Amino acid sequence: MSNPIYVTQPHLPPLEEFLPMLQEIWDSRVLTNGGEFHRQFERALCERLGVQNISLFTNGTIALLTALQALRITGEVITTPYSFVATSHSLLWNGLKPVFVDVDPRTLNIDPSKIEAAVSPQTTAILAVHVYGHPCDVDAIQRIADNYNLRVIYDAAHAFGVDCHCGSLLNHGDLSVLSFHATKVFNTFEGGAIVSPDAKTKLRVDHLKNFGFVDETTVVAPGINGKMSEFNAALGLLQLGHFDAAVARRAKIDALYRVGLSNVSGIRCLNDAGEKRANFAYFPILVEPSYRKSRDVLYDLLKQHEIYSRRYFYPLISDFPMYRGLPSAQRNNLPVANTAASRVLCLPIYPALRDEDVNRVCHLIAKG
Ligand SMILES: *Cc1c(COP(=O)(O)O)cnc(C)c1O
Repeated sequence: MSNPIYVTQPHLPPLEEFLPMLQEIWDSRVLTNGGEFHRQFERALCERLGVQNISLFTNGTIALLTALQALRITGEVITTPYSFVATSHSLLWNGLKPVFVDVDPRTLNIDPSKIEAAVSPQTTAILAVHVYGHPCDVDAIQRIADNYNLRVIYDAAHAFGVDCHCGSLLNHGDLSVLSFHATKVFNTFEGGAIVSPDAKTKLRVDHLKNFGFVDETTVVAPGINGKMSEFNAALGLLQLGHFDAAVARRAKIDALYRVGLSNVSGIRCLNDAGEKRANFAYFPILVEPSYRKSRDVLYDLLKQHEIYSRRYFYPLISDFPMYRGLPSAQRNNLPVANTAASRVLCLPIYPALRDEDVNRVCHLIAKG
């Protein structure tokens, strides 16, 4: 007997821990616009993530849109086709032109060695993604940005709680954007955030997320409504206390998969986090040509057993109708991303997933 297994299952705290917080919100009648839970959650996040300035948002996509506005990005932005569509959509919504650059075959993050060739006089920024929570080559990207006077924005939607060689990964670039969507490693149902390097930038972001209001009568920018409500902030504060345990369980599942799949020829697990602080948000495998079946046949086979893996990221963003006409979207410009998109499969990983379920997935893949 077994239940359907999805690629992820939202992690929730015990409801009884949330009820007193809801009671507080009901009693205070402060529902949004920077209430007490909002303040507490921002402070707690800064401490937990090892960052100085954070601004909470209603979701990660509005946060991405606002990050581009905050830095006044114009013209062309170099980005990756190997991501969730919101990454590139945020450029189109700002009237910016995405310029796609291929990815590194090891990490599937944007390949810094290919960025320079894509820089034009119109280029003003690099929008990179820490795919699956694996850190981009932040030093190489920063060197290029410094050389060409470009801004760097990280879509860190997958990278909650990830550390790199010098502390929090979120301290790199000019801004980092988080998502707390239900499917992410840390969720507030819906939610997001921008990490700013200094208080002045945070202030600008905070104005922009509240219509540009500075005070009752002063509006300094054409802002948007990106505010996180007290409901989501209270939930986030509660979730934070359960995050380390959730990651520890994910790490166990990650290790089980690596053992279970280690001798299956044609199945390659993506890079091991090693000793770095990772979040084990996803478990991507590449189904290579030497495997007995194609990726899509394996995907269907798992589905027949009610195991719903996901082809993140397929199709590539550059193949969607609003992007595929761009010169940089052509397949011969993006060979590594195209190969990865045709081979990748993200296997189920979430704290409530049982060892026997992981073993069953491994067994099915090994049997082919
Ligand atoms: C989820 C996700 C987003 C969008 O975040 P939302 O909170 O759902 O708006 C953006 N970029 C990437 C890479 C994502 O995975």
